[in-house]
Amino acid sequence: MEWILKESIEELKKMLLKEGWLAETLFNHAINALKEREESSIKQVLGRKNEINVMDMKIKEKALIILATMMPMSVDLRIVTGSFVISSYFENISEKSLEIARKTLELIRQPQLKPLVTIPEMARLALIMLRESMRMFADQNVNGAETVCEKDNEIDNYLEEVRNELMVYMMEDSKYVKRALLLLEIAQNIEEIADQATKIVETTSYIITGKQYRCFEDKLYTINSLENNKGENT
Ligand code: FE
Repeated sequence: MEWILKESIEELKKMLLKEGWLAETLFNHAINALKEREESSIKQVLGRKNEINVMDMKIKEKALIILATMMPMSVDLRIVTGSFVISSYFENISEKSLEIARKTLELIRQPQLKPLVTIPEMARLALIMLRESMRMFADQNVNGAETVCEKDNEIDNYLEEVRNELMVYMMEDSKYVKRALLLLEIAQNIEEIADQATKIVETTSYIITGKQYRCFEDKLYTINSLENNKGENT
């Protein structure tokens, strides 16, 4: 019975990683479309809308069957319950990538407002975070988790920068407002994708240790140390 459980959990992990790779691909293509102002990549992203929903459903179904028939315990139980959550994070990342693609489509039908510098940098960092979080889940090893929190903090700061910069355009001339707003929304979507990557790291830390962790600013804390407000780094 034990080996059936191990095998089922390995399968579940593989399904999740496949969903993660798809989310990563959609994000990557959406950002390339934005950088290259290329319509064909956008259509590719938008055409894969249902794939991720189907994957998410299958993962949750598989996890439920494991829970109901194999009664996993300790770390196995945490992987199975954690997979419900992580699958939803990947689904959110895909949804946000689709949103970026839709907004990019609107954006590239108008002349370019400004050369993009900060937004592609935010996306580059978010992509590294996403890959790191997937690696941590795949290896069940959260070494380097803090670097993900640090990058999240960097992205939050970049978003502020982008917001201020775009505000200047919006105030300068009302004809810039629409494009500036689209760019701002895209930057917000990237920031939200980065947040999902930190959540994957938090959940993976929980799976491995059984303790609840949260990225707060640029560090990873246990819930206890956050509650006691010691700010003690764990
Ligand atoms: Fe954030």
